Amino acid sequence: MKVILAQPRGFCAGVVRAIEIVERALQKYGPPVYVRHEIVHNKHVVESLKAKGARFVEELSEVPPNSVTIFSAHGVAKSVEDEAAARDLPVLNATCPLVTKVHNQGKRYVGQGRKLILIGHAGHPEVEGTMGQISAPVILVQNEAEVAKLDLPADTPVAYVTQTTLSVDDTQGIISALQRRFKDIVGPETRDICYATQNRQSAVRELSKLVDIILVVGATNSSNSNRLREIGSEEGVPSYLIADGSELDPTWFRNAKIVGITAGASAPEVLVEDVIEALRRLNPVDVSQLTGRHETIEFRLPPELTDGGAISRAAENV
Ligand code: SF4
Repeated sequence: MKVILAQPRGFCAGVVRAIEIVERALQKYGPPVYVRHEIVHNKHVVESLKAKGARFVEELSEVPPNSVTIFSAHGVAKSVEDEAAARDLPVLNATCPLVTKVHNQGKRYVGQGRKLILIGHAGHPEVEGTMGQISAPVILVQNEAEVAKLDLPADTPVAYVTQTTLSVDDTQGIISALQRRFKDIVGPETRDICYATQNRQSAVRELSKLVDIILVVGATNSSNSNRLREIGSEEGVPSYLIADGSELDPTWFRNAKIVGITAGASAPEVLVEDVIEALRRLNPVDVSQLTGRHETIEFRLPPELTDGGAISRAAENV
């Protein structure tokens, strides 16, 4: 069986930074440190950080007084920042800088007096964080049908921003529908779909031309991993989202001679290797990798973790 790996795949710069923030916080302040929400959507990553002393909570009320608290890569609502400030918790913010950029764009548009439309998926923590960062009401739109149902006059000044991990094509369709619906509409010059999402989606399209089946390594609650699986299917290749090698179903490979593998932005390479090992147990495999795009983006860590400075209390940041 031939196995072709997509390039790029797996960890993006935002995920690398978020994990490093937790690891460095554990080294610097000692366990436990408290992380609000899964730091990134991957059970393997969460379990390995738990083993080092990180504790994951859904609400700040679960964090004991004075405990080091980390916000996840998806970002948080202003109310969460305010709650941390009211409790004077020492906070490290692992929100991906590209998500923060979307927050700032949204605030700017609202400041210009525009109605803000967020293109994204209801219930995703990034969407909840972005909606909760904007002081005015934000309208969430998930698809083109919802654009048609918007109860706003056509001459309303509107602006849109998007969740960072959607499919480029889906977003384009919704933006075009919004542009047909509203006369006075603005959006960011380059769409907010982040570089890592875009690169992984292009790579899976390339991969789909060469393979009989696509395996996407990632979590079911990972938005960008789900999009990769959808794109593989749209390209006509049977595509499966799996957490690791244990989820392989041998019946998938009955007619497959060439298997493509990619991984979502929150899936570590060790899980790709685990899938290859599981394939090896079914058949001898010959592994190659597409040339693809080389990514060099890195995001700076918070200064508290690099300069030896004291951790800031949340109250100083709001
Ligand atoms: S997928 Fe993009 S926006 Fe999300 S954490 Fe990674 S780099 Fe940041």
